[in-house]
Amino acid sequence: MGEAVQVTGMVLSAMPIGEYDRRLVLLTRERGKITAFARGARRMNSPLMAASNTFAFGTFTVYEGRNSFSLQQASIREYFTGLAAMQPGVYYGFYFMELADYYGREENDETQMLNLLYISLKALMKNTISPRLVRRIFELKAMALNGEYPDMFACAGCGTAEGLHVFSPRRDGMLCDKCAAGEPSVQRLSKAAVCACRYILASPLEKLYTFTVTEEALRELERLMNTLSGKYMDRKMKSLQILEMVAGEF
Ligand SMILES: [Zn+2]
Repeated sequence: MGEAVQVTGMVLSAMPIGEYDRRLVLLTRERGKITAFARGARRMNSPLMAASNTFAFGTFTVYEGRNSFSLQQASIREYFTGLAAMQPGVYYGFYFMELADYYGREENDETQMLNLLYISLKALMKNTISPRLVRRIFELKAMALNGEYPDMFACAGCGTAEGLHVFSPRRDGMLCDKCAAGEPSVQRLSKAAVCACRYILASPLEKLYTFTVTEEALRELERLMNTLSGKYMDRKMKSLQILEMVAGEF
């Protein structure tokens, strides 16, 4: 067994394995996405039991093995237990975890993504912004952190910042009326929807969940984000199926 390492991170998923163990996927600041086995975590009175749950955020002491880590102890700062009781909030939370798992890489600095997860789960719990909007804000910001996102500020054809009314999936960005002429399958976006996207892309994380939009603008945003998810991701997240069932989300 290798050296003990201390990492700060969040449990993205916790699968029961064997009779008493759990297999955790952790997103960490120091080592990126790692797999850690919590041995005996499902035994009564195991000190690892509470820490071995999805959403647990804190400091984890792990031993590095050849292919995985072994969880030794944990100091959890936030369990997000309130979220676990929220319907359909918790399913949005699971979806955020799956998306973070999808984007997470080994040995990558995941500080920003961890912060995004943390404030997004908090926003779900606070429930002042519709979870439908929280979801779309999270998606676009996660894409931006991952470096794959459309330019919402300038025309993808001529570069102008004025009069951008449509989004072109093919050109991967906004188009002015002149450049949009004859362009197939563009999506018209209201000023409110464009503003929302720009705000999400430009805003620091701590100010991300401080706005809301009309139902109409939210629908535009949902349609746009579904297009972008299909474009930038090579598969659909499994947790979306549950979300669609319990929240009527698409
Ligand atoms: Zn143009």
